[in-house]
Amino acid sequence: MHDLAIVGGGPAGLLTARRCAEAGLDVLLLEEHTQVGEPVHCTGIISFETAALAKIPDEIVLGRLQRARLVSPAGAACEVRWTASGSEEILVVDRGHFDRSLAEQAQRAGAAIRTGARVDGVEVNPQGVTLDVGGQDVSARACVLACGVSYRLHRQLGFGLPAQMVHTAQVEVDAEPSETVDLYFGREVAPDGFLWAVPIRRGNRSGLKLGALTRGDAGGYLSRFIARPKIRARLRSAPGRMIRRILPLEPAPQTAGDRVLLVGDAGGFTKPTTGGGIYYSLLTASLAADTLIEGFQAGRLDAEFLARYESRWAAEIGADLRVSAWLRQFLTRCRDDEIDGLIRALASDSVQAVIHRTARFNRHRDVILALLREPGIASLLLKSLFR
Ligand SMILES: Cc1cc2nc3c(=O)[nH]c(=O)nc-3n(C[C@H](O)[C@H](O)[C@H](O)COP(=O)(O)OP(=O)(O)OC[C@H]3O[C@@H](n4cnc5c(N)ncnc54)[C@H](O)[C@@H]3O)c2cc1C
Repeated sequence: MHDLAIVGGGPAGLLTARRCAEAGLDVLLLEEHTQVGEPVHCTGIISFETAALAKIPDEIVLGRLQRARLVSPAGAACEVRWTASGSEEILVVDRGHFDRSLAEQAQRAGAAIRTGARVDGVEVNPQGVTLDVGGQDVSARACVLACGVSYRLHRQLGFGLPAQMVHTAQVEVDAEPSETVDLYFGREVAPDGFLWAVPIRRGNRSGLKLGALTRGDAGGYLSRFIARPKIRARLRSAPGRMIRRILPLEPAPQTAGDRVLLVGDAGGFTKPTTGGGIYYSLLTASLAADTLIEGFQAGRLDAEFLARYESRWAAEIGADLRVSAWLRQFLTRCRDDEIDGLIRALASDSVQAVIHRTARFNRHRDVILALLREPGIASLLLKSLFR
């Protein structure tokens, strides 16, 4: 019997594996694909704060982003310079390589990783957990679900699903070099979400990650975006394969139970404003590992003991998640002319100063609360609330 079985070899599972193996636990990670990190569904934008949780080798960096341009439904644009505050560097990493580098670190720490190993079932019993891996039983004392947006095992174990989900689609394509991330908003463009064009460099080739996060058919919105003459003019090749996927925007109602913890997307941990989830996956993995290590030391893997994981993530990111979810609710009620007004308001010098003073890439509470004190922005959002 293993101490810990982890379902899923994305950032959340791999960091949990590394941290628990470093503490001397016997860890087995099961990944359904034959290679960790493939296929890539993610843009890979992270802030350098992530390096505190996981090493970021230089060779996996595809870009260092200086600024974002928000484009309103009517075509008004507002530029936000991330580096203006000097505190945060924003990187685009190659997600496939990032995950493989995390896998190497986990293996070096002593974790075993089995690829091509899909978990079809999990059962909790008084002695431990039993996983059905392609018809073979694997036993462990505890289990971490780090299976991303595959929620089948949650249902088997009686865990609820994140209540808020959106659809996404993404392609990578060769394109003219650029230094700016473009984000497009509007009901026709990407209802309840946005489209993005993120510049990257692979060796001497420049490219773009083009994506959509929307309610409904994200692939359709992305295809129409790519067909725009202004976007087509920037491209140097036909777009690669489009990858579609759902994304949770709210934590699952329960993320700890008897012998089981949920981390990363499996727990619904992404930023409700942008859908970014790499940092929160690593953070929740690290908090889950702390909790499991203590649980093994204390001989306690019951739900009551493991609930301290929920208190830990709530203390770290609970307020950011709540305030961001609340802003998202407002924004999804806004009409196009109101989004237009918001983006124009964001471009003003006073609001830019607020952003530079309070914005942090991974924690949105402070900047949202500060922006709500700006008269132009508060009145627009309130209007959408009382309509
Ligand atoms: C289009 C798009 C763009 C994004 N861009 C960004 C971005 O720029 N920045 C950012 O921070 N976040 C981004 N995200 C979010 C980010 O990709 C996720 O939050 C992150 O991948 C979550 O990591 P994870 O380890 O929880 O899950 P995943 O990375 O999804 O890993 C889960 C793993 O579990 C495996 N698995 C699933 N079920 C089983 C099973 N039954 N048995 C065995 N293995 C299983 C899967 O194959 C997968 O390898 C993006 C998401 C999407 C969809």
